Amino acid sequence: MDIHEYQAKEILSGFGVPVPRGGLAYSPEQAAYRAREIGGDAWVVKAQIHSGGRGKAGGVKVCQDEHQVYDAADELFGKRLVTHQTGPKGKVVYRVYVEGAALIEREIYLGFVLDRKTERVMVVASAAGGMEIEEISATRPDSIIRSVIEPAVGIRDFQVREVAFKLGLKPAQITQAVNTIKGCYRAFRELDATMVEINPLVVTSDDAIVALDAKMTFDDNALFRHPSVSELRDKSQEDPRESQAADRGLSYVGLDGKIGCIVNGAGLAMATMDMIELAGGKPANFLDIGGGASPERVAKAFRLVMSDGDVEAILVNIFAGINRCDWVAEGIIQALEANPVNVPVIVRLAGTHVEEGRKILSKSGLPIIRAATLKEAAERAVAAWKNDSKHNVKMVASS
Ligand code: GDP
Ligand code: MN
Repeated sequence: MDIHEYQAKEILSGFGVPVPRGGLAYSPEQAAYRAREIGGDAWVVKAQIHSGGRGKAGGVKVCQDEHQVYDAADELFGKRLVTHQTGPKGKVVYRVYVEGAALIEREIYLGFVLDRKTERVMVVASAAGGMEIEEISATRPDSIIRSVIEPAVGIRDFQVREVAFKLGLKPAQITQAVNTIKGCYRAFRELDATMVEINPLVVTSDDAIVALDAKMTFDDNALFRHPSVSELRDKSQEDPRESQAADRGLSYVGLDGKIGCIVNGAGLAMATMDMIELAGGKPANFLDIGGGASPERVAKAFRLVMSDGDVEAILVNIFAGINRCDWVAEGIIQALEANPVNVPVIVRLAGTHVEEGRKILSKSGLPIIRAATLKEAAERAVAAWKNDSKHNVKMVASS
């Protein structure tokens, strides 16, 4: 789960990371009021969306007076910002954050990620932070500082000082930088984050270290033990289909093809998508019903996949171990009887109670295309989809 910059700053500030004074606003009036509250003579108005790269997309505006703050906020509210991280659909701005502007001397990059190779949390830093960091890591990978943290002992002082020295910080700045790096790591560990990123971490003209931007991502599977984090979730920033699925305990991934996939298990989902591509089609999404799915859950999954307007065929591929094919079949029938669909439905069942499942499907009299193997299922799905979308005919029953 991602959170907003202002939320990440509030969390990190609780761990001793210095952040600028700021206030959240839901209207231009409120933004101007925030600027007055903060004081000073320059402010930055920042669009709060779950994405980086806002600066380049016009989502960060430096202002010299209250009127400019008002206008900047007015322009941002309701705007759909498209950044290199949002995809072409972009993300809509419903909140802006107003901060006192900092006098920047240097911009540093500081990140914490899970490094799969070492299976450790790794500090990643660069003396050349700011908006061009992607370019720098691509063209000058050697300039990136990396330091792996030993989980049993945690982050060590000498290790943090080494990073600070490599960043070329002056003695007057080292202690603050060390506290900042350690604070970020503690937040990462204690809150089960999967990513903490401060870009830029700036050195101001009076030698202060300040986190000018902050990004945090959390492990969804650990959210249950951090209610204060999980309540920061902002559904307006998520794919509505993915959040609806998550609310129902299903996991959904939206893609850009035409064949909707209902499967059980992530591995089977990958295999199903590969087979669809091999047969000449493209998946519109995949929905994992998980293990032990009841007919009601399967029916919900069906409705969710159908609510995606791009779906022109549905492939159900279940290899039941903990699941039961008869329950899956009942779920499919429940869904189709309640909301008949006008796209072909292809079902492949295998595993526990498969015979009962097949019987239920054939007895139902519903126009379901059945397949015995995954290969056959993918081929039939692609064929049915092509036929349907070309001639726009209603499909007929088949065995
Ligand atoms: P991002 O583009 O989404 O990563 O948004 P950032 O919060 O990193 O802001 C983008 C850029 O705006 C930063 O790299 C800074 O150069 C600039 N910026 C942000 N806050 C301030 C500020 O307080 N003062 C000044 N002068 N520039 C700022
Ligand atoms: Mn940034």
